[in-house]
Amino acid sequence: MTVYGAAPAPVRPQHMGYQLLYQATSALRRGSFAATLTPTTLNCACCDRRWAEVEAPFKAVEYHYGKCGEAEYVCLTCYTPRIPSQDILGLERMNVTGKTQTPIYGKLGMLVGSGGIITPEAELYLTLPPKLFEKYRDGEWGQQGRLSIEKPFVRLISLLIQGTLDPIEDGFVYIENWGRKVDGLMRQLMPTTSLHELWCNSENGASVLDLHAIITTAQVMSDQGLDSQAGRFAFWKPILDAAKGQRDDKAFAQWLENVPDPAALLQAIPTDPYDRLRLPAVLGWVMPHLDKLLPYCQTKIQSSPATFLSAQSSTQPPVASKPSNEGAQVEPEQGNLF
Ligand SMILES: [Zn+2]
Repeated sequence: MTVYGAAPAPVRPQHMGYQLLYQATSALRRGSFAATLTPTTLNCACCDRRWAEVEAPFKAVEYHYGKCGEAEYVCLTCYTPRIPSQDILGLERMNVTGKTQTPIYGKLGMLVGSGGIITPEAELYLTLPPKLFEKYRDGEWGQQGRLSIEKPFVRLISLLIQGTLDPIEDGFVYIENWGRKVDGLMRQLMPTTSLHELWCNSENGASVLDLHAIITTAQVMSDQGLDSQAGRFAFWKPILDAAKGQRDDKAFAQWLENVPDPAALLQAIPTDPYDRLRLPAVLGWVMPHLDKLLPYCQTKIQSSPATFLSAQSSTQPPVASKPSNEGAQVEPEQGNLF
């Protein structure tokens, strides 16, 4: 008879992002005056997880939206981006009411236009616009070298090539924009465990990007001597137009003539039209670091037009890959290049 020891419960993948955020932000909660209470509801009002499953089980914080908002009970993880901190970040601004001046301190949930990466070791790195960087550089995180003024994706690439996000299967969190709508960010905080599905979290929810396919595309372009075209909008225009459902046969025919091996390139680019729309921006950042990113994509690249055509006819983007910003102006066409 085998007796099993009391092994810790396996981490449920949908909780990993929350766990990493919770671990990475313990300093914020140490300085917080928020009172916790035992909730009378079943789930956190923000992430909707049961109280037994959250990082600080059965501890809630009462939260009000505005002055007359109804009380909601949120878990400590979902509450954390709402904690203002003088020590960890610093002074955001002085709020002036008549002759009274009240200091407003920085919080994660008010970092508009700022990104973040949490490594598998639960180390947090923030990317801030220069004005916010200046405000918070003397805070604890600033002094620890956690703040920078790069674009979030650029910081992600640099952490990736430094090996800071290894092993990727262990999971890291990529926040594209903290924004100011904490509920939108925390409702579904997705961890990344594979470059095939880079989860981009923001105040508008989580969307997925096939970074593996982007790196593969960069390699195919480099093989064909197209390095300098990678980040050029003009080069990609026929492909972008098609992804938006506005195909231009003439422009595409011209494009086919300009590319040495178009079938190989078309086979490499991501299948999801939303990913294709991001090609010039993301490839422009990936191409200069291609050599160091290639080890993450060891699959051999096939370049057969026949394979490409059959793959195209049967390819449908995964349901989960639809970004949550439903108000997007142009709806990409699903599963069709042309
Ligand atoms: Zn929660």
